Amino acid sequence: MAFKENVKNGVVWMTSDKIKTKHGFSTRYGGVSKGGYKSLNLGFSRGDKAENANENHRRLGEAIGINPFAAAYTKQVHGTEVRIVGKKDAIVPENLDRPECDGLATSDKNLPIYCFTADCVPVLLHDPENEVIAAVHAGWRSSVNDILSEAVAKMKKLGAKENKICAAIGPAIGTCCFEISEDVKTEISRYLKGDTDGVIFPGKKEGKYFADLREANKRRLIKLGLDEQNIDVSDECTVCKNEKYWSHRFVGQGERGSQCATIVLE
Ligand SMILES: [Zn+2]
Repeated sequence: MAFKENVKNGVVWMTSDKIKTKHGFSTRYGGVSKGGYKSLNLGFSRGDKAENANENHRRLGEAIGINPFAAAYTKQVHGTEVRIVGKKDAIVPENLDRPECDGLATSDKNLPIYCFTADCVPVLLHDPENEVIAAVHAGWRSSVNDILSEAVAKMKKLGAKENKICAAIGPAIGTCCFEISEDVKTEISRYLKGDTDGVIFPGKKEGKYFADLREANKRRLIKLGLDEQNIDVSDECTVCKNEKYWSHRFVGQGERGSQCATIVLE
């Protein structure tokens, strides 16, 4: 594990030393939003004031050293599409007229790409030699439908080589809190072709299990040709650490914010 906590002007974000370009996984700390959105909410579609979400984007961008007001964003649908984007796709974060997809890839410099999570698994990918990046929102549904192979395929289209790609699998719901039933267990098992030792664990009730979705994604990346040594996995659970991270499972349907994973080629 080589995730590190960074702090600047009250903004707290996580980075991985496997990724050699500017990037970050945001937390709830350092923003201006109030109530259930306190404080660093980056979402515009769940009821927070737009001026606050904008200011939060500005603060996070300033802390990491990237410009969120000319960046590429996703409209996430728990699918498997990973879209190749370029400078022409740069928009402001408040613009919700975004392409429906759950991942973005680019080889353009100075174009930050973002995906958003609140328990789902954020994955940042970087081929430092061939200068290609991707950001992926991998909930269980996108994961088992193999969004990571889409992401790697799109990166290869841009010139990346799978064995050069470095990956950071960020803060997400942990095994401790990701209780699943038989149907999801079956899907994960199919995804990993039965290689579920250390991924699926017995639950507390009959017909229930616990799953390590980050480990599942790590295994898939290795099968796709990434070097295990180039993959970093956060050990923080967003549900257990609900004061630090946004958690959909913890909050339920009420006011809640979103965190992001972002990366840019310099
Ligand atoms: Zn947990």
